[in-house]
Amino acid sequence: MPSPPRLRIDAITRHFDGRDVVAGVSLEVAPGQVTCLLGPSGCGKSTTLRIVAGVDRQSSGRVLVGDRVVSGDGFHLAPERRGIGLMFQDFALFPHLSVGDNVAFGLNGGLRGNRRRVEDLLERVDLHGFIDTYPHQLSGGEQQRVALVRALAPRPAIMLMDEPFSGLDNRLRDDIRDRTLSLLKEENTSVLLVTHEPDEAMRMADEIALMRTGRIVQQGAPYHIYNNPVDRAAAAFFSDINVVRGISRGALTDTPFGQFLTPGHADGAAVEIVIRPQHLRIDFDRQGRGPGPTASDGVAARGIVERARFMGRESLVEFRMDYDASLLKATVPAVFLPRPGTPLWLTLRRDRCFVFPADRATGGL
Ligand code: ADP
Ligand code: MG
Repeated sequence: MPSPPRLRIDAITRHFDGRDVVAGVSLEVAPGQVTCLLGPSGCGKSTTLRIVAGVDRQSSGRVLVGDRVVSGDGFHLAPERRGIGLMFQDFALFPHLSVGDNVAFGLNGGLRGNRRRVEDLLERVDLHGFIDTYPHQLSGGEQQRVALVRALAPRPAIMLMDEPFSGLDNRLRDDIRDRTLSLLKEENTSVLLVTHEPDEAMRMADEIALMRTGRIVQQGAPYHIYNNPVDRAAAAFFSDINVVRGISRGALTDTPFGQFLTPGHADGAAVEIVIRPQHLRIDFDRQGRGPGPTASDGVAARGIVERARFMGRESLVEFRMDYDASLLKATVPAVFLPRPGTPLWLTLRRDRCFVFPADRATGGL
């Protein structure tokens, strides 16, 4: 199978009403890879995708497929000539065409000339035998799969997908995401997928580009982005977080959990230590023993359970800390559901803490 071309977005901007809704986005989708453009609603994801598709035009910058400029430098190749497949949020099928005719729509020779390809694709998304069915006879998930194979039928080298799973209910969605991903990989398609859901991005992406107010703020493999967020907002985008505040002095910051090394922060600078709830631990060994050093080179801190909620696999427990009356959240195995008012000692995984300057502009994420 030939390797699909690389997609390159080179310094794209898009002004609307005197505002840069896309403000210098550069991004590459490597051949055969899934890159997710992830960010909150309104940050410019769809606009970027529409520019790549050619249904909108950038104010400046270029789009390249392989070595070929498809848009930019005063040139604009029509969308249908870019070798790009599209699957948008509202992936309406043609209601008056059968499933088979829908899938064959973009193929020379229609269904008659491409029956084998259409049957093969339908089989691969478990829609064998649906070729003569009409869209209104299908469930939402089945329609979504028809739309997917319709977009893939002409073998586009690059697929653009804009929140393609957002219309599906939760139970269907994971299954359809997985099927979609395997089909895209089998077809060796390069994919640029837009989503505002971090779970979807982590499930689907080889590479995530995190976008905020028209800019890409961080890019990398899901594991990297989750474990090395560039700032507090990037950490908060993927999960609930706790923020422990302090002042750095002599590259050390006092916290309820002992001193943290905070090199690179000026004397007197406010810092934020960010930790996800699953990395805050209840120190069961310490109960009744009081404060002191812990095995994890920190100090245990006491908090009073303010609320505890059973969530199925785990419980979410909120603590009011003795040290400064701040509120911290911990997720613990659901076998444990402490009563409000219970005092408990907590420790945190220091290797999972992120230290950021407190005054960093976070773009309102
Ligand atoms: P996202 O897909 O990340 O939710 P969009 O790219 O759709 O965001 O929109 C980004 C911003 O650009 C939004 O504030 C939106 O209102 C604005 N916008 C999008 N299209 C237009 C348009 N045609 N005219 C004016 N503003 C637009
Ligand atoms: Mg959008």
